[in-house]
Amino acid sequence: MAAALGRATSRIADFLRDHAPLLRKLQWGIVALYSFLLIVPALLPLPDNAASVFNNLTVVAQFAFWGVWWPFVLISMPILGRAWCGWLCPEGMLTEWASERGQGRAIPKWMRWGGWPFVAFALTTIYGQLVSVYQYPLAVLAVLGGSTVAAMIVGWRYGRSKRVWCKYLCPVNGVFNLLAKLAPWHFKVDEEKWRHPVIRIEPINCAPLVPLRHMKGAGDCHVCGRCSGYRGAIALTPRSPEEEIVHVADGDPWQTALLCFGLMGIAIGAFLWSASPWFVTAKQWAATWLVEHDILWPLMDNAPWFILTHYPDVNDSFSWLDGAGILLFVVGATICVGGAAFLSLWLADRIAPAAPVPPAPVNSHAAHAPVSRWGRAGLHKLAQALIPSAGIGVFLGLSATTITLLKHEGVQAAWATPVRFTLLTLAVLWTLRLYARLLNARPVGMARKVGAGLVLAAGLAPFCIAWVLFFAVW
Ligand code: SF4
Repeated sequence: MAAALGRATSRIADFLRDHAPLLRKLQWGIVALYSFLLIVPALLPLPDNAASVFNNLTVVAQFAFWGVWWPFVLISMPILGRAWCGWLCPEGMLTEWASERGQGRAIPKWMRWGGWPFVAFALTTIYGQLVSVYQYPLAVLAVLGGSTVAAMIVGWRYGRSKRVWCKYLCPVNGVFNLLAKLAPWHFKVDEEKWRHPVIRIEPINCAPLVPLRHMKGAGDCHVCGRCSGYRGAIALTPRSPEEEIVHVADGDPWQTALLCFGLMGIAIGAFLWSASPWFVTAKQWAATWLVEHDILWPLMDNAPWFILTHYPDVNDSFSWLDGAGILLFVVGATICVGGAAFLSLWLADRIAPAAPVPPAPVNSHAAHAPVSRWGRAGLHKLAQALIPSAGIGVFLGLSATTITLLKHEGVQAAWATPVRFTLLTLAVLWTLRLYARLLNARPVGMARKVGAGLVLAAGLAPFCIAWVLFFAVW
């Protein structure tokens, strides 16, 4: 059975490798559709209340981007790995296309900074809320179009036929990298066959710059298939969805930050603020206080649309107070939800510490690796177990837009709440199972393992409460 599955996945990869021109044509088709949905709605008048997906292009584009594209690209990551990036992503294809024709400069040091996936995700998520990216085509053009133009500029300047943008700067690279670790397949390298290849070795171009020989996981690979069969040593191979997290992924401080403070913090704040009665109450209190103290400028809604939402024609403009309120809500959610998850990791890693890492050889790179300021390596390894919960949180938040759009089209959505809680429960149970497997490998007694497990479970409570508030209470 496993052998048959392996042969089938290898055939898929070989097909991709042998049909690269066909894939490129498909990608150009996606680029055309993407450009059309990005640019044309921004030139049209805003839709009125009677507009629907059947009679208004702006609503079609809104549904395509936020109702279908984003949530289902996310969910494709744990199912297919980063196949979206390699097969269909217009930005990835355009940056590589520009790089094939560009200056081919060396990648600058600042671009290799490990914090970009977190910082780019955080800034894009917050900016998207301030300009109401889910509602207005101009905001979509600024956020997605701006990102695409930046991707092409980076591609044109750096690397030769590479996807430097995707590897270092894409705002969702970090999220996709994490979610792809759950993929049930990956390109596996046979070390023995690599050393003694029995076939002619053709040069290949791995556009996202994966170090092929030492590739262990699926996080960086775009599943383009180009390396399938390379040196007779690389094959797309089925695996357990837990294999990478339990046996391979060590995690690092920036991945932990993205999981705890990005996906389980900033993203939750961004999804929840508009539904929160606390947000309204706090804003009213602040507005009253400002009026009483004769400080009126924060109540003005005079910021341009690319700084804060500003569409007076449809009575939707944010004041400076609105903008500050959104930022504070996001910071509060990050502290309460992400902070609790991080604190639980920190405590659990002290209650049940990992085995000490053997010293690296004196002249190896690892011997000079800086000690993390954000906790011990064991903490970051444990944090990888958060991937299912953090991922489902972002999927639920994005699919809330899908449900809202469907309701607007008259679709009954009574099924949505039970489905949401079922998905949330399964994801949290999966995280708890991964915690248990990771703790089980630690060289401490059962009492410590159980204690650490309880602390980790408690750290997920604010995350669960946030979704209960969003879907059931507010
Ligand atoms: S490792 Fe590189 S060349 Fe191989 S499939 Fe992944 S992205 Fe393509």
